[in-house]
Parts: sequence; C-alpha cells; structure tokens
Amino acid sequence: MSPRNNEARSSTKDASTPSPELPSPNNNPLSFVTPTEFVDLPSKGEFYAQGHPLHKQDTVEIRFMTAKDEDILTSRTLLKKGLVIERLLQNIVVNKAINPADLLVGDRNAIIVAARSTGYGSEYKTKLNCPSCGEYVEYDFDLGEASVTEAEASEEVTRTENGTFVIRIPKMNLDIETRLLTGRDETYLSKLASSKKKHDLGDTVLTDQFRQFIVSVNGQSGKDIINALIENMPAYDSRFLRKHYQAIVPNVDLTQNFECSSCELEQEMEVPFTADFFWSK
Ligand SMILES: [Zn+2]
Repeated sequence: MSPRNNEARSSTKDASTPSPELPSPNNNPLSFVTPTEFVDLPSKGEFYAQGHPLHKQDTVEIRFMTAKDEDILTSRTLLKKGLVIERLLQNIVVNKAINPADLLVGDRNAIIVAARSTGYGSEYKTKLNCPSCGEYVEYDFDLGEASVTEAEASEEVTRTENGTFVIRIPKMNLDIETRLLTGRDETYLSKLASSKKKHDLGDTVLTDQFRQFIVSVNGQSGKDIINALIENMPAYDSRFLRKHYQAIVPNVDLTQNFECSSCELEQEMEVPFTADFFWSK
C-alpha cells in the first residue's frame, strides 16, 4: 500500500513503461490501466536469495482483481486441479519475473488477503464449526484486522547466514536447522496428504511437514539422518520444535476473536481460508 518502492522500481522496466504491443493509454480511449497497490511482505524480502526479484524488497506490487480474474476463480477445471490460487497469483503479481510457487507461504498469504480485500472488501462472512458445541455457525471476520507477524527471535533460535533458523531441541539436545516453506512446498504437502488419504496410509501431516522444513541435524543434512531423527524424536521435542518454528515464520496473523452464536464459547480462532474466501456473499 505504500508507494515507497516506486523509485527503486522505475529503474526496472515493468509497470512504469507501457509495453510496446499495447496501444498507449493517451491515444486510445478504449485501453484502461487496472490500478495496482503495494502489499507489505511479512518476510520483508529478507529470505529471498540474491538475484530473486524480491530480495530485500519489503513490498510487492499487485494489480486489483478484475472480472477476468473472477473467471479463474470460478473455473471448474482449475478448481478441480487445485490451481485456482496459483493462477490468480500469477495474474495479479505485476512483476512477471516472480514465480508465485517460489514465494514464501506467509508472503503468499499476505497477497491473497490483500487481493480479497481490494476485490470484495475486508468483511469475510463464512460458516464454521464451533469447536465447543459443534454447531455450524455463520461468522463475520474482518480481514482489515489481519496484522503481519515477523520472525520472532528467541534464546532457543539462531538465524543463520543462509536465511535458515537453528532450533535446539532440549530432550535430544540437538541443533535442528529449519527453513521457511514456499508455495511449492505447500502444494507438495497438500498433494502428499490427499494421496495418502486416498490410499489409506494414515495421517502423517506432522512428520511430512518436519521432513519438508528440516534442513540438517547437528550440521548433517542427509535424508537418512533427518528421517531417523523424525522417527525417534520424543513428543516433547516435537512440540518444542513446532512451537518455535511457528514463531519464526513471517506471516499474516489471521487469528481473531470468535464468539459462537449458539453456545457461550468465545475464543481466538484462525480465519479459515475456506472455498468461499473469494465467493463470500
Ligand atoms: Zn458453539
């Protein structure tokens, strides 16, 4: 939302120079330019390697959603293949050198929330199961309240030069190096989960996530050693690792106060990214 990157950007040849194949907006009254905005990146660009278009950039420019984007959102084929969000991100991110699959999960979430808000407003009416009474209740979330959470430093976590984080798990007394996940990792994990479900292979979401974000154990990065760690990690360490990993992931905080209309429950809840996120009435 802040224009502070404009100067830096005008040196790169994207939005500022009209592309040659399009008629200039000044001569042709039938050409329109879709407005754009800058979205604050939870990562502040800190975890993108040198050479990545978002390296050290704290915002990304997206254009407002258009009627054409709505076609994507309602495409049955894309929905079925789970490609809706991917295609939408490809369309709205202005700099085409950015591959949405390479974006960190938290940055993707920030872009999705911003696109939803500019397209349909920040009020998000959805239905969810109350965790207390189990009733399916309607609830209004305000996406305007979503705040950015930054990587939290703590005694147990050390950041490395490679943009990874080392978390020392107390029971096994080992240094676990972890990395932030991207859209590609997220897609892989969700495909893995649904394929395991389909073949009745049991729920291994937690350990699959560990396998994805653990880079090394005490400096050793072999697959075997990481698997052996996961097989043998005490529940205490597993919880410890998850808790501290969650705190380092730069993200959009989507927890909001939920009051059940059917029972007494009032608690913090994560705004659900359900199918009606873009179709909410
Ligand atoms: Zn309830």
